[in-house]
Amino acid sequence: MARDKEKSGGAQGRIEEIKRRISEVDLICAGTLQKRMKTCGRPYCRCLTDPEALHGPYYEWTRYVDGRLVHKTLSPEQAKMLEQAIANNRELKVLLGDWKRESAEAILGMKREKA
Ligand SMILES: [Zn+2]
Repeated sequence: MARDKEKSGGAQGRIEEIKRRISEVDLICAGTLQKRMKTCGRPYCRCLTDPEALHGPYYEWTRYVDGRLVHKTLSPEQAKMLEQAIANNRELKVLLGDWKRESAEAILGMKREKA
C-alpha cells in the first residue's frame, strides 16, 4: 500500500514496528528469580556437613506487591515461565523507551504550520 510505503523509514514506521513487537509479548513479570540449595534442618541429614548433599534446587521469586517485598517458592516449570516473563518485561521496557523516543521525533519533526 502506498500509505504504508510512505510511512516506512520515518518515525511513524518505526513506531508501527515497535507496536508489532509489543503485541507479541506474552507474560511479563517484575522481580528477581533466585535458585538456591538448602539444608533441611534434620539433625542427622548429610546436608548439614556435606555441601554436595544440600537439597534443591529451590526457586524463589522475590517481588514487590503493594509496596511490600514478597517471596514465593516456585516449581522448576514455574521458574522457567518466570524467567521468560522477566526477560519479556525487560524487553518491553526497552521497546517503551524506543516508542517514547520515536514519538518525540514524530512530534518535533512535524512542520510547524502557520497560525
Ligand atoms: Zn537435609
